[in-house]
Amino acid sequence: MSPDRARLTIDLDALAHNRAVLADISGAAEVAAVVKADGYGLGVGPIARRLHDEGTRSFFVARLAEGEALRAELRGRDAAVYVLDGLIPGTADRLAASRLTPVIATVPQADAALAQAVAAQALGGRYAAAIQVDSGMNRQGLSFEEARAFIASPGALDALDIPLVMSHLGSATEPREQRNRDQLARFRELRALFPEARASLAASAGAFLGAEYSHDMVRAGVSLFGGGPEERPDPRLRAVATLTAPVLDIRNLQPGDRVGYGAAFTAQKPMRVAIVGAGYADGVIRAAMGKGYAWAASGRRRLLTVNMDLLAIDIGGAAIDIGDHVELLGPNVPLDDLASAAGTVAHEVLVRLSPRAERIYLGAA
Ligand SMILES: *Cc1c(COP(=O)(O)O)cnc(C)c1O
Repeated sequence: MSPDRARLTIDLDALAHNRAVLADISGAAEVAAVVKADGYGLGVGPIARRLHDEGTRSFFVARLAEGEALRAELRGRDAAVYVLDGLIPGTADRLAASRLTPVIATVPQADAALAQAVAAQALGGRYAAAIQVDSGMNRQGLSFEEARAFIASPGALDALDIPLVMSHLGSATEPREQRNRDQLARFRELRALFPEARASLAASAGAFLGAEYSHDMVRAGVSLFGGGPEERPDPRLRAVATLTAPVLDIRNLQPGDRVGYGAAFTAQKPMRVAIVGAGYADGVIRAAMGKGYAWAASGRRRLLTVNMDLLAIDIGGAAIDIGDHVELLGPNVPLDDLASAAGTVAHEVLVRLSPRAERIYLGAA
């Protein structure tokens, strides 16, 4: 460990704990892991291998290249890998070469999958593709009419192997939203069109909405990494990512002194600030300045400014010295708190953590 560098600690035991929490609330449903964007920025290899050790056998990524990378990281372990981008023209061979299952997202993709299936059938094989249906998010997936027309096409239900029919909720972080119940009702109609397929509607937040949302599989992403289902810290979940950085200097300000660029912060009274060796290039989102906090000497310390390499925190009279590491994200600075200070979601905080910080994995991967 280098004392001079920002440090990103990734706690794989906390990941395993969060998976167990999700398994517990999901009842008999399988807990699949969504590990797109390099495992939410935390390193898809160690994340996926530890989840596999914990029993995960279904993974989701967004891009084809992410699926190829994941397949290589899983090296011979048995797991289904679904690609949410689906069957984009020109990608069928690469999907097949890495045994990736496309999640069909549009009508042209459904037609392309059927063509693959007919060709595979002629050779005595079967082509597998999951189907995404649109239950009301209006982003990806076949509408009810499109799905019904598709299953009526010759060969759709016999040539094609459809292991999974899935949809995605648009308002799951707000449990009281009627939209959730509307999407659930629509999904029940849609999944009935694919009687052989397993069904999945819920991502992390959806899994917490209640048993009726879990179906056969939940697709957990952010809550595996500690993000709360309602965009607030949830005491059941543990922090997986902890970012710390060293105090490089401590400065005394007088009233009227400004810190950093422009008028980002002006002292109103005499105060002590610590200059910390991390900034937005390490993943501390700049928009959190003035609103977020760091954790040092057992207390919250207001983030005054966030620049590319340096940030300033108000340390008052606390016993903080040059060289001490300050927590910028972790058990005492929950993901959801940093996200709301920065006006974003926990997912974005995670994927912005950068390779500049030294990475340390805790627990077996
Ligand atoms: C990203 C994603 C998920 C996981 O979402 P979380 O909120 O991180 O749990 C699940 N399903 C789909 C379709 C996604 O795009």
